[in-house]
Amino acid sequence: MPTGYGFSSRVTGIYTYLECKDDKCYYCGDVSVLHDHVLPLAVYKLAPIFKWPSELLKLVPCCHSCNVIASNRVFMSLSAKWDYIQLRRLR
Ligand SMILES: [Zn+2]
Repeated sequence: MPTGYGFSSRVTGIYTYLECKDDKCYYCGDVSVLHDHVLPLAVYKLAPIFKWPSELLKLVPCCHSCNVIASNRVFMSLSAKWDYIQLRRLR
């Protein structure tokens, strides 16, 4: 898992921001251009009363290509999503 990231108190709705001082993509280290919903917002909206793990209700800095790789997939944890994107980027 990358280092240098910390959770801030900034909260938007139910999602909490994961900040990086260098504004780097959480998954690959490129320049981030957006914040990725670890649990896709569309999925959350389908089941908002489900007890989603708080780890999934995060917004992490993300570049465009990692966001495309992740798409609307659901992962069990942030580290599982990180692993998946690493493997896809190696291709
Ligand atoms: Zn990236």
